[in-house]
Amino acid sequence: MNMYNLKQEKVSDFIVHLQKYGEVIAPHPIGDASYSFSTVTNPNTVELDYNRTIQSIKKYFFPPREKLLSYSTVSNQYEKVELKAEPRIFLGVHSYDMQAVLKLDFNFSQGNPELNYLKRRENTTFIGVSYSSDKYHFGRSVGIPVEELNGFDLFLRKNKSGFTIIVVTEKGEKLLKKFSLPEESENTPENSIEFSTQIKINYNRLPELFEHAWDSPVWESVSKKCVGCGTCNLVCPTCYCFNVEDDVDLSLKNGTRDRHWDGCMLNSFAAVAGGENFRESLGERQRHRIYRKFKYISDITGEPWCVGCGRCIVACTAGISIVDIVNQLKEEYEQTHLTKSTHQHEWAG
Ligand code: SF4
Ligand code: SF4
Repeated sequence: MNMYNLKQEKVSDFIVHLQKYGEVIAPHPIGDASYSFSTVTNPNTVELDYNRTIQSIKKYFFPPREKLLSYSTVSNQYEKVELKAEPRIFLGVHSYDMQAVLKLDFNFSQGNPELNYLKRRENTTFIGVSYSSDKYHFGRSVGIPVEELNGFDLFLRKNKSGFTIIVVTEKGEKLLKKFSLPEESENTPENSIEFSTQIKINYNRLPELFEHAWDSPVWESVSKKCVGCGTCNLVCPTCYCFNVEDDVDLSLKNGTRDRHWDGCMLNSFAAVAGGENFRESLGERQRHRIYRKFKYISDITGEPWCVGCGRCIVACTAGISIVDIVNQLKEEYEQTHLTKSTHQHEWAG
């Protein structure tokens, strides 16, 4: 892999160079302690040293709310919104958010492919950046080290004077062609960076744990704290549920069909006509959310569908942690299902 040296003082020039190839979207500080991805208008306001953004880059491919079509009840005609795939460069993406996009690619290409999502994914370039894990990140527990390069075209590894740019794809190499940078030969991968927060079993044993977790008392105990606000769904980079609604104007002549994010923690999510609700209690809803991350899709793909970003833990006002839930399930499973003679080392991560 080719590597180049990018000094901190050259970062702004590098961003200006990238802007020649398309819209550059990067993390920016918001308020005192938050970050958000937005289009770069001033390269000096980009912040590549951040813990996590409030929302992931998912919002660029799958917007929180979008118009799918407009229609007339008079002419009985409709017009679909046609999207264009303009070139976009996502700069300063953490490995867990990149992996989340790859997971969404899977979800939105299965069965009936989601064309709006897939159109927005065309013409995209990804430049990753390393990060220092805080007490909420747990990427390693779900198989995603800080320097997971899969999906990126270039990756910026923080070093003492700025960054080492690691070229991952040919597309990445082409981006650097007209930007003169000294080559770097030193190769010190950062995959050994430790995470202080950990799920205490190896991620490839999670589906097995969840085989036995359905009737656990943990769901009931977590539900006593949960208020069912759905924030954990809304900040999750791998949640992709949505609702489609028609909105007719007051004349009843014209309307739009809109799509917006939905969340399985909301009471209305599993409600159906006739007043039934398939997951009425908060415990059932929490169980469903966690099974979506570690069992249902994982049984098909062999991977956890949680990327360890920690957003749901940071955002939960009730202090509920997905890591604590899984660790409690593991403890409870060991106490009730595993005999003392079971080799703990086989089970533990
Ligand atoms: S953010 Fe917390 S309180 Fe809100 S639904 Fe999720 S777990 Fe429950
Ligand atoms: S479940 Fe929580 S930690 Fe996992 S990807 Fe979603 S927001 Fe991040």
